[in-house]
Amino acid sequence: MDSILVINAGSSSVKFQVFAVEGEGRLRRLIKGQMDGIGSRPRLRASGADGDPMADRAYPIEAIPDVPAAMEVAGEWLRNEARVTPLAVGHRVVHGGPDYERPVLIDHGVVAKLERFISLAPLHQPHNLAPIRSILTNFPTLPQVACFDTAFHRTHGPLADHYAIPYQLHAEGVRRYGFHGLSYEYISKTLPQIAPEIAKKRVIVAHLGSGASMCAMKGGSSVESTMGFTALDGLPMGTRPGQLDPGVVLYLMSEKGMSAAKVQDFLYRDCGLKGLSGVSNDMRELDASTDPRARLAVDYFVYRIGLAAGMLAAALQGLDAFVFTAGIGENSVNIRARVTEQLAWLGVALDAVENERHSRLISRQNSLIPVYVVPTDEELMIAQHTLALLMNGHSPSHRHERVS
Ligand code: AMP
Repeated sequence: MDSILVINAGSSSVKFQVFAVEGEGRLRRLIKGQMDGIGSRPRLRASGADGDPMADRAYPIEAIPDVPAAMEVAGEWLRNEARVTPLAVGHRVVHGGPDYERPVLIDHGVVAKLERFISLAPLHQPHNLAPIRSILTNFPTLPQVACFDTAFHRTHGPLADHYAIPYQLHAEGVRRYGFHGLSYEYISKTLPQIAPEIAKKRVIVAHLGSGASMCAMKGGSSVESTMGFTALDGLPMGTRPGQLDPGVVLYLMSEKGMSAAKVQDFLYRDCGLKGLSGVSNDMRELDASTDPRARLAVDYFVYRIGLAAGMLAAALQGLDAFVFTAGIGENSVNIRARVTEQLAWLGVALDAVENERHSRLISRQNSLIPVYVVPTDEELMIAQHTLALLMNGHSPSHRHERVS
């Protein structure tokens, strides 16, 4: 069976999904898996499309010290046990820099270019590139496609793309890129099926997961986003602070003696809901907690979403719909209810019953702005891009042998 393998590699986990290619380029999810605990407690888990377990194995730490080793083991499992021989591999790559506004077929030249963006996303980009390099070495004829989290936002105009810093830095790449682009692209492609007229208009999409951002879309294209140069800006997240006066960073360095590396670690791992609550980075735990600091963290999260909605509505010069997506947006009845309260001044009226039911449309009929819940699917987006590039640029008929 023809299939596409999708890989999303992070610092401590490699997530993968396999999609069967069916008639007319339709894709059907076959396998979902991940190798996590890389460098600590490596474990391979995989399940079929209906959730039936296919693998659950622990490995000694020295067997899987890094992402390439994880890729090797997961690849062997896919080939030898799951019997997957993909036509192509699609990768999530966080940073496409200023140049890539769409997915690209990977070759050594592309890898060299993407390596230049490591300094723009030092915690993500090297891990995204590791499996690409190992596949290029071991299976040089297997087509690989890089799909970027920044690409969807390359439609931003100069006002949304610049910081008020000397122009030369912009030319060097210090820009407001925006992230979660694969998720927004999926929503942009799905909304016309749900609400065709509204999809052509002004829509704010709130991607609320462990990473969180919001995107203003006009006619399905991104015009503004809460994230900027890195995935630190904008909304508070599980462990990242969101918008922060750069003076705080200067204070940490000059008064607390923190090095750049320490500050980086602090901003990515110790702030956000976790830092503010002192309880957890997981919204489920905060929602259930009676701790006053947990309440403060949830209140802050909701308040900042409300502020960002005002900013994005200004960028759009009005608003025609609001969409919730990702882990919190798709699942938390409470956060959706509280965010929509913040949007009441814009004319949003929630239907509490439909919200409880996790319906697609959760606003009342008389709400001036309809509010939708649309589950995102970044992996399907990557698989679709990969197949499209494969059909346009490569013959899917030949199989790819390992180089020994
Ligand atoms: P994601 O990054 O999109 O996978 O989202 C992960 C986050 O979604 C988790 O960290 C949880 O905080 C949140 N989440 C998942 N389910 C729920 C729920 N039922 N209520 C509140 N938050 C949830």
